[in-house]
Amino acid sequence: MSGLKAHLLARIAADGPLSVADYMAECLLHPEWGYYATRDPLGAAGDFTTAPEISQMFGELLGLALALAWMDQGAPTPFALAELGPGRGTLMADLLRATRAVPGFHDAMRLHLVEASPPLRAAQARALEGYAPQWCDDTAALPDMPLFLLANEFFDALPIRQFVRDGDGWSERRVGARDGQLVFGLTEATPQAVLAHRLADTRDGDVVEICAPGQAVAATLGAHIAARGGAALIVDYGDWRSLGDTFQALRGHAPADPLAAPGQADLTAHVDFESVAQAAMPAAHSRLVPQGVFLERLGITARAQALAAKLEGPALDAHVAAHRRLTHPDEMGTVFKVMALHPEHSPLPPGLSR
Ligand code: SAH
Repeated sequence: MSGLKAHLLARIAADGPLSVADYMAECLLHPEWGYYATRDPLGAAGDFTTAPEISQMFGELLGLALALAWMDQGAPTPFALAELGPGRGTLMADLLRATRAVPGFHDAMRLHLVEASPPLRAAQARALEGYAPQWCDDTAALPDMPLFLLANEFFDALPIRQFVRDGDGWSERRVGARDGQLVFGLTEATPQAVLAHRLADTRDGDVVEICAPGQAVAATLGAHIAARGGAALIVDYGDWRSLGDTFQALRGHAPADPLAAPGQADLTAHVDFESVAQAAMPAAHSRLVPQGVFLERLGITARAQALAAKLEGPALDAHVAAHRRLTHPDEMGTVFKVMALHPEHSPLPPGLSR
């Protein structure tokens, strides 16, 4: 039995079943056995891949969008350029290369990375050598200056609780133990004040997810951006308002049972952008836009054609496939959404609308 599974069974035996959020936090971030604590999960040899790992175009276009937002707010100096959960540092490296030509941007920026994983911090240090990034454990530690921030597939990794509608109350989904195995169970239904507004748009048996850590991060970002200026570009799978069970495990690029191998699979849930936007007030938020539409508005087709002109054979085929993968509705184009947080009266970053 793995160390983490034994630890979870002992914890359940002592304290009773865990919320899905506690289970997720242990699996992802346990300092000795947690998924992110022990590996670099990205890429072909890992468990999943992400937009910046698919094509350089993603980081280039997001970077230029963020630089334009910085210029539209009067090019404040200095400012914090920050990323939440930067993975291998690929998105930030592409952003930095693409923004070299933006006058004053590199001189004014102070690069900050919020990252929990030691192996990924090491990968980021390699990818961003020469840019002197500073790492921090959480968004509250970002410096007190205008903040221009990216978060791609960060919020989906934050722990969620799950509730199942039962009459006027809600049962919470829990992770317990039976015969030495981890199993899902449900608590008795009780009213939940935080879900009172969801009685109007759900039916018996519907699942609603709440991501308290995501709301806390959004509240910190929103207060920071409203007070000091800046913008946050948030990209993730999810939708406006949580409905349904979206808790999932990925292992070796295939869906897995989330309880089968704790600490060995990536665990995520879809992002409820409505709760992020609400928690971020008094910062304003853009409308939610599908990733494919957003990238087309930023000119991905022109950039793809310019890059294609220098490629041939299998490299050209891979490039064409990557463009399709990022934008096509059957691939990442529709499931992934983009939303910006910004000061109420500032212009929006390009590609987004109120
Ligand atoms: N943005 C990257 C990686 C996405 S994977 C990309 O698009 O490729 C999720 C990232 O968030 C990883 O870097 C992971 O280590 C980090 N992460 C997950 N939970 C975190 C937490 N609670 N605090 C800080 N970083 C976290």
